Amino acid sequence: MSNFTLDSMDISTEYLEAFRNFCEKEIKPYAAEWDECNELPGGIFKKLADVGYFGIVAPEELGGSDLGIVAGVKAMELLSEYCGSTFFSASASFGLFGEPLKHFGTQEQKEKYYKSVLTGGKIGCLAITEPQSGSDVSAIQTTAKFNENGEILLKGQKTYITNSSIADYCIVLARLIDAEGKDLGLTHVLLELDNPNIGRGTPMKKLGLRASVTGEIYFDDANIGDKSQILGGIGKGFRQTMATFNEERLSLAGFCLGVIRACLKESVQFARTRKSFGKPIYQHQSVGNLLAELYTIQESVASLTYSVAESMEGQSRGTLPKDKTMPARCAALKYFASTQAREATNIAVQIHGGAGFMEEYKVARLYRDIRLAEIGGGTSEIQKSIIASYVMKG
Ligand SMILES: Cc1cc2nc3c(=O)[nH]c(=O)nc-3n(C[C@H](O)[C@H](O)[C@H](O)COP(=O)(O)OP(=O)(O)OC[C@H]3O[C@@H](n4cnc5c(N)ncnc54)[C@H](O)[C@@H]3O)c2cc1C
Repeated sequence: MSNFTLDSMDISTEYLEAFRNFCEKEIKPYAAEWDECNELPGGIFKKLADVGYFGIVAPEELGGSDLGIVAGVKAMELLSEYCGSTFFSASASFGLFGEPLKHFGTQEQKEKYYKSVLTGGKIGCLAITEPQSGSDVSAIQTTAKFNENGEILLKGQKTYITNSSIADYCIVLARLIDAEGKDLGLTHVLLELDNPNIGRGTPMKKLGLRASVTGEIYFDDANIGDKSQILGGIGKGFRQTMATFNEERLSLAGFCLGVIRACLKESVQFARTRKSFGKPIYQHQSVGNLLAELYTIQESVASLTYSVAESMEGQSRGTLPKDKTMPARCAALKYFASTQAREATNIAVQIHGGAGFMEEYKVARLYRDIRLAEIGGGTSEIQKSIIASYVMKG
């Protein structure tokens, strides 16, 4: 448990310093062990909430500190430097689940669901992907049907859902059908997962991010309540999903940047201590060149990430005009950051030689974990198609 509160923090730099101390104490000593056991300790969500991590981009009236999007990205970057799995599961709860609620939820929904996730008392998840539709969100088959009593019955299957087995709440993207059978379009519904007609698969075995559970959720005519469970507009689910992608892509860039920083740190430390041919390996020009490449990747990804974060923060605070290029910028950022981060982990493993292939060294975990960044939140191919269509329109 941390010994400071957000009340005592007046500026974000001070907060970030304190958050680094938290990560050093509460995350660093355990990250490899969590990865090995394929799970995070239950209490980590509460600890992150207590340290103010969930509240950075949350409005004060909902219990957040509203330190802003730039501070939020920097905190995500920090957490990712220590543990990608913790970043992912936390982001699925307060980001993937929390952000749509913040933007499109009613006051009642925010009071009940958003606040309890923000305090770490409950865990959220977002279920969009299905066995037959990932990139093609419009092909979703899960249905949310009104019965004659005005209750919604959910039927279908979701897969690859982060926090599937540990979440209390879920936002599901489903096709809404009225009592007469008319299709009202893709709609977000909000529900509690503790329901006899909702099943969850065993967490899947993964290449990386092993402590962040991922799996299936099944809905067998699950009664999720009445129309008050609808999030945002009826038939607006697709648009709402696309609207929150910008934030998700920025946060994934924060993840990439954290991994890149960890690669450089680990590599510098290793290159100083490992000797070959009678000298530390960094004194061989080829290894020095690899370190220079890592630093260059770090600086270029940091510049782009912070520039997009500052624009997004300016727009959200009304100090900058609305930027219509934001979807293309976020897609370019995510594409660039994730490919550069993958290269950074490759370089870091190379600098470590055989040690880099061993799980005992952190770079092996970084190498496995980063692969998701080019897939989640829309694959690199989807990012490039967004960028290309913007370029051709412009
Ligand atoms: C660890 C992990 C956690 C996840 N967490 C969540 C979560 O919490 N919630 C959730 O809803 N989903 C989650 N996902 C799912 C993730 O969003 C999808 O895997 C991703 O969007 C890609 O969809 P897909 O796997 O079905 O691939 P597909 O869509 O089947 O794509 C397969 C290949 O075809 C390419 N492709 C597909 N369509 C096109 C196109 N139009 N143009 C060019 N190339 C194309 C893709 O780029 C890819 O290379 C998670 C996935 C993983 C691995």
